[in-house]
This record gives sequence, structure tokens and C-alpha cells, in this order.
Amino acid sequence: MSGRSAAAVPRRGGTRLLQSQDSAMMCDNRTMGQAVIRTQADLGRRIAQAREDSGKTQSELADLVGLDRTAVVRLEAGNRKVSATELVAIASALERPIDWFVAESPPAVISRRQSSAVGGLSRRLDLALENAARDIAFLIEQGILPHQGHALNSAPQSFEDAEILARSVRTEARLPEGPIHDLQVVCEQLGLLAFSLALGPDSGDAAYVEVSDLGVAVVNGTTDSGRRRFSLAHELGHHVVGDAFEPEPRLGASETERMLNVFAAHFLMPRSAVQNTWDEFRSGSARLAATAVAVRFRVSWSAACNQLRDLGIIDGRERGLLVEDDLRKGEVLELGERWVPELEPPSVPPGYAQAVVNAYRARRLTRVRTVELLHGTVNESELPAIEETTLERLRRELEVEP
Ligand SMILES: [Zn+2]
Repeated sequence: MSGRSAAAVPRRGGTRLLQSQDSAMMCDNRTMGQAVIRTQADLGRRIAQAREDSGKTQSELADLVGLDRTAVVRLEAGNRKVSATELVAIASALERPIDWFVAESPPAVISRRQSSAVGGLSRRLDLALENAARDIAFLIEQGILPHQGHALNSAPQSFEDAEILARSVRTEARLPEGPIHDLQVVCEQLGLLAFSLALGPDSGDAAYVEVSDLGVAVVNGTTDSGRRRFSLAHELGHHVVGDAFEPEPRLGASETERMLNVFAAHFLMPRSAVQNTWDEFRSGSARLAATAVAVRFRVSWSAACNQLRDLGIIDGRERGLLVEDDLRKGEVLELGERWVPELEPPSVPPGYAQAVVNAYRARRLTRVRTVELLHGTVNESELPAIEETTLERLRRELEVEP
């Protein structure tokens, strides 16, 4: 596994926030800086925060780590140094990785919070991304999460480029020509770990950041299934293009955003497969055929109609007439097909979940931490049963000491 240094947050990468799938300008590209060790005061605040989150009092923490209460008070106030041994004990008592206390938050996320003119609009998304990125950096560093570099492509400069890129990424993922079922799994195969979390209607749609060689995306699970998939496909575009490493992109940010929307549309709805579906239903009505495209390719009604127009199957006027009237549930039933939602929150990538549970079984993660890493997709009682002798527990605790 990787022998990466203590820096456990992304060394360099970008984060983008997707606001709406139909607007041209959607993401906010930023570059991440180096991880830094906190000052004594920062560390104290971090400890206080973790202790409060855990619901423990200062006295309780003091008892758990063998200090007196005044020492904990001074330490949280930044008036007392924390030894490495004490920090290990505190991290263990508060069920947090040591990294959480010493590594700086990804600066990009902080800058977003500070510069955001829209108040709390994307703060929950930023925080969710920050947490997921931190978890993944920790798991990589511990050798728990396997990771490998992924192929980087040039950023598309035209609609044709975007379609070619979509086709080539589909080939890389060995996808057949038809609709993609389970986009989360496909993304994981391409080195993009996608988490769907319910962040509420006022958060952004999705955000992406690169951690070591892996991509991390958080999708707002509160939005509709079709929109969640489109948002994730857009973030996959950022992932395969890796444009954070291009110091001066040839196209402006908003143009790149548009190109990645085109990429997303072709990735989810490839030309010939959409044409085949259209041909299958065209003897009915345009609306029925468009419904079949939306349902089979698991996209929103507007995304399906837009793609039919962009492929030249319908014209702008026909598109306008179709989207005017939203798709109704009964029309899906009429088609004899089933609407299958994806990325229902909370949802984590299966390979990631497997690595986390394996680490739990190998006693490298605590029960609480395992459930936290799985974002509540399982509860503590649903974890595999592990018998642990007192001697083993003692040995494990001793191994933690530096
Ligand atoms: Zn974007």
C-alpha cells in the first residue's frame, strides 16, 4: 500500500459545486493547498469540538485519558501542550482519527464558506465533501482503501469532443451501448467514489474533489433520481478530465461547464442507443418515445428532451412542446416499464463499503467509526459479529501507542 506522508488531505485538486443542471455556469473551481499542522489553539478547539460532538463532558474525557479536568480545560483553551501520547488517547476516546485533529480542513472548502455570497446555500455540501475527502484520505493512508491512478483525458473543446470523450470513457468502463444501470458502481470502477447524502433542498447538487489518485463526489440525495445521475455524470467529467491540473484551461470556466454537461448527456444517453429506443416507440407518439428515453436511460424528463434535440431527433419547437408538460407517473406505467431510482440517500460505493467492513473485521476500525464511514447505511447491530478477547483488546490498544 501507499507509503504516503502524514498529509492526509488532498495535496492538490479542485472542488466544484454544481448548482443546476441546465444553467451554463455551475461549478466553482478552486485549487487546494497543502495540509498543515494546526497551532496549539487550533488543536484545542478541534478537541473541544470533537468532545462536544461525542456528548462527553470535560471530566469524562479527562477520566478516559488519565488527565485531570483542569488539564483538559487548559488544553482545549490552547493553554497547554498536547503530547503525542495524549493525542492518541484523546483520539481513541473520542473515536476520531488522529488526522482529524492535526490536519487542516481542505482550504478550498474553507474559502468557499468564506466567499459564499449566498449564505448557507452550499455549506452543507461543502461540509459533506470535506468529511468524505478526509475519510478517504485517512483510509488511503491506513492502506484500507485500495487506489490507483486513473487515465486523464484532454478537456473537450467542442460538442463533438465531448461526445467522443463520453464514448471513450464508456469504452474504458467496458459499458455496452445501452443505458447505464447503477452509475455509482460505474463511477467507482473509474476511480470516482460517489456518495449520495440527503443535504436538503437548499444545498447545491453535487461537488467533486480529488484525493490522492481517487475522485470523491458528494451528490445531494434530496434531488430527484434523474437529476442526481446527471449531476454525478457531470462530476465524472471533471474526474476524467482532471482539469485541476491544467494551470490555464483553454476554455473559460463556464464553457468547460457546458462541455461537461454535454459529456454527461452523451455518457448517460449515447447517440445510437437513444436512436434505437426512439425508433422502437416512434409509431406511437413523440411523447411516448421521449418517455421511453427518460425511463430507460434513468434521466429527468428535461434531460431526455434536451438530448433528443441535441441529437437532431426532434427540433427545438418539439422539445418546447414536450417539456412544457412534465412527465407523469401514469405515462411510465402506460409504457409497461418501471421507474428505477438510483443514488437514494444515504448511499455509498459498494467497493468502498466492502473495504471499510473488511477493515472493521480486521479490527482496524472501531464499530462507531465503521458506521460513521458507511454514512448510516448500516447500524452497529448490523455489522458482522466479531468476538474479541480481553487480551486481544489490550494488545490492540497497546499497538496504538507510538
Ligand atoms: Zn462542473
